Amino acid sequence: LDAATAELIGVEEAHVAHNYHPLPVVIARGEGAWVTDVEGKRYLDLLAAYSALNFGHRHPALIDAATEQLGRLTLTSRAFHNDRLGVFAAALADLCGKELVLPMNTGAEAVETGIKVARAWGYRVKGVRPDAAAIVVANGNFHGRTTTIVGFSDDPQARDDFGPYAPGFVQVPFGDAAAIEAAITADTVAVLIEPIQGEAGIILPPEGYLRAVREICTAQNVLFIADEIQSGLGRVGETFACDREGVVPDVYLLGKALGGGILPLSAVAADAEVLGVIRPGEHGSTFGGNPLAAAVGLRVVEMLASGEFQARAKALGAHLEGRLGELVGHGVTAVRVAGLWAGVDIDPAVGTGREVAERLLARGVLVKDTHGQTVRIAPPLVIRATELDWAVEQLRIVLTE
Ligand code: PLP
Repeated sequence: LDAATAELIGVEEAHVAHNYHPLPVVIARGEGAWVTDVEGKRYLDLLAAYSALNFGHRHPALIDAATEQLGRLTLTSRAFHNDRLGVFAAALADLCGKELVLPMNTGAEAVETGIKVARAWGYRVKGVRPDAAAIVVANGNFHGRTTTIVGFSDDPQARDDFGPYAPGFVQVPFGDAAAIEAAITADTVAVLIEPIQGEAGIILPPEGYLRAVREICTAQNVLFIADEIQSGLGRVGETFACDREGVVPDVYLLGKALGGGILPLSAVAADAEVLGVIRPGEHGSTFGGNPLAAAVGLRVVEMLASGEFQARAKALGAHLEGRLGELVGHGVTAVRVAGLWAGVDIDPAVGTGREVAERLLARGVLVKDTHGQTVRIAPPLVIRATELDWAVEQLRIVLTE
């Protein structure tokens, strides 16, 4: 490591809690799909901050929206109205085909909000017994890091030593609609799933699963909550991963790319009969719905409304799928692709996912491993086909080194 890099990593290690194990690169600038480290070395970013950078680093339209708003008003709290929130909410509701939006900041907060809304809907609308509300979730889920959320994770790293865990969640295998149906009781208020499991390694459910979940939830009077925080907003070649099966959930949970890679912005979107159950004083956030985030979020929604990014993700994703497919049997055991989002399982004979990520880093490509042997590829949707080809070529070299 170069001296500047080593020093900056050293000071971070000394003063930041070790809740992450970053790759040894210190990034100082970003533009589009590329970042530059403190030594001036450039890297192609194939992680895009876990899909928070769907529009790339510092997209000019988003920087414009943020800069314009920075010159006027940044924060009011929800004690007062601001002139950006309503406009943003109307646009986002329209994108989602829903009536209402509840703005928060992080993804985990959107999930927590969805849980609270589902429970309140259960008691006030469905008529579930007091304190009995149950939510069906999937094995292998990742919905965030709060105490309630990690309580219904089955990942020991996420969960162990953070109990006691909140009751009211039932786990079933992911991709198994019959298991969901069997788990539903009179107390069930919601089914909460990722339409495609991201952190688990880009796990795609079998074709027809989302449609079956939709039918079961409708028939049983249970809310279908889709956590589209990582899968939504263009990543899979559609606005939402649920669109792949033409399915509309009752509740969308959104985050990551909603903030344009500039600031944290999350939201819950649903119709009034669901989200309307929340009354003044029952839920909120100091920063949720702030005018700066709303201004950026509005621009994000406008960019998605054109369909341009979804189309790019679809076309580039098909291209990426072809290129990655050539690696299967050559250091790669399996590839799963949805739009511009891929899970690449590394042959253990070649090394771990982490080792492959480190070797790619040395060749100017940023990726992150997940669950040991999988490398996740989620480039900004503004990446070019030639840049993808170059990155896959680096991967091919690394796998055969
Ligand atoms: N839900 C899903 C599907 C996610 O992938 C994530 C983050 O990776 C979250 C929720 C949590 O989002 P945040 O880290 O912003 O709290």
